[in-house]
Amino acid sequence: MSRPFTPSPNIVRLKESATLAVAARARALRAQGIPVIDLGAGEPDFDTPAFIRQAAAAAVEAGATRYTATEGIPPLRDAIAAEANRWLPAGATPFSASEVVVSNGSKQSLYNACVALFGPGDEVLVPTPSWTSYYEMLELARTTAVPVFGQAANGLKVTADELERAATPRTRGLMLNSPCNPTGAVYSRHELEEILALADRHGWWVISDEIYRRIAYDGEALSLSQLDAPRDRLVLINGVAKAYAMTGWRIGWSIAPVALSKAMTAVQSHATSNPAAVSQHAALAALTRLDESDAAVKTMVAAFHARRDAVLDALGALAPRAVHPAGAFYLYLDVSSVGGDDPGAAFAAALLDRYQVAVVPGSGFYTPGWIRASYATAQATAVEGVQRIVRLLTEGL
Ligand code: GLU
Repeated sequence: MSRPFTPSPNIVRLKESATLAVAARARALRAQGIPVIDLGAGEPDFDTPAFIRQAAAAAVEAGATRYTATEGIPPLRDAIAAEANRWLPAGATPFSASEVVVSNGSKQSLYNACVALFGPGDEVLVPTPSWTSYYEMLELARTTAVPVFGQAANGLKVTADELERAATPRTRGLMLNSPCNPTGAVYSRHELEEILALADRHGWWVISDEIYRRIAYDGEALSLSQLDAPRDRLVLINGVAKAYAMTGWRIGWSIAPVALSKAMTAVQSHATSNPAAVSQHAALAALTRLDESDAAVKTMVAAFHARRDAVLDALGALAPRAVHPAGAFYLYLDVSSVGGDDPGAAFAAALLDRYQVAVVPGSGFYTPGWIRASYATAQATAVEGVQRIVRLLTEGL
């Protein structure tokens, strides 16, 4: 008897990743020979620096081909704690390796944290727009994601007051992401301090996704570890993907209180076990050969910075319609003038169809009036893509 698939209650409302769907679409069109300008997925176009690739090759030859501890190899956990400690203010308590869990990309660390911390009946505040996967990870944890909308005049960032107004007795935590995907906005010290004070007053968990922290153009983007944040309800998330051009290696991590870290390790032990041994050795090189990796990060961030300036130039008179991109490598543009129920999706579809440029519709980030264009691609390509966006926005759909 044929029994068609019906989704379980776990995934009944789950949506495909909007960012990965656009990336897949662009890849498929390219495979058909259509020269798509892909401003979809946020992925640095640089090669992983040579010294990291070579360290990985040497590690494989030396036998890094077997299971490791679920939470990661001890030298990498040490190196991650040391990396976090590099940025701490003088006198702050250093992090230790026992607070670190290494995972298959920061995405898995975020998932581990959501599943370990929240459950049915809980609400978690999500500053919106936010990266598409936060909402879906909370959904997988059967938790209610509560979008809290930021104002365009404030770079779509949320304030502590806006978060407080959205809170209920069921609120258990909030997601923070600065520099922000999809907007590129960076929270100031004062804004972060106010949000942390609010979370502390209510006893909320704060999950701080800091994957873009080193990619900032108008001054430093702060980690919550650099503020006087209480550590007992703080989860820091980071990884090597964006700053070191290591997306495909899949290495991320969490730094959290030891009891939570043990719970996240247990989640991971049943889902995937350890992240790939060879990738852990690659990350170890990135985090311990600091002269080489700092130089590589500096070079790549300088290139992103030049592209940021160039794409803003290409926007010309339309620049005020974009959130000021102070970090990450995204341009978030208001296309609500094209009208309809989902202007971002209509615009993105027309842009791909007419001008062969792939961008992510803002509906993936709960703001349908917008589109996200990633400029983590060759400068001339990013500029050409943005020029075509301007053309379509000017001529209309
Ligand atoms: N985080 C990147 C993006 O937003 C990579 C794709 C993904 O994992 O969502 O495009």
